[in-house]
Amino acid sequence: MNITNNENMEDEFFRYKRPDIVLNYEGHGKNTKTIILNLLELANSLSRPSTEIMKYFSYEFGTQTKQNTLKGMFSKTDMNNILHKYIQEYIICSLCSLPSTSYKIKKSKIKIICSACGNESSKLPSEHKIINYIQKNKISNKIVM
Ligand SMILES: [Zn+2]
Repeated sequence: MNITNNENMEDEFFRYKRPDIVLNYEGHGKNTKTIILNLLELANSLSRPSTEIMKYFSYEFGTQTKQNTLKGMFSKTDMNNILHKYIQEYIICSLCSLPSTSYKIKKSKIKIICSACGNESSKLPSEHKIINYIQKNKISNKIVM
């Protein structure tokens, strides 16, 4: 699917595709776990560390995560909604709407730099706990499983 979720956007080179999230469930009742089977593929397509994406899910759902597993049972719709929010706020350039961005961390501020149009945006939702996490883990583009 198109990363921007905007099917009208032309993407003739298919650069902005991400795989559909593939989930599996383990356990029963309170012990149910949600597993993202294609986390690494997903993280690669978004050019963000898998650890950051999992941390975002963890904060949004208020649950614990370990590697590609979330404690609790979360539907694909819920997962996609959170992922979409993350992509909109942390990946899509606010000026040109392309997902060609990376973080620039300077002291306590994080900016999103767009390699497509050169825009520097500091419009991140700074009250979100993920900001602290990103600052602590200045591993911006390193993919960790
Ligand atoms: Zn841009």
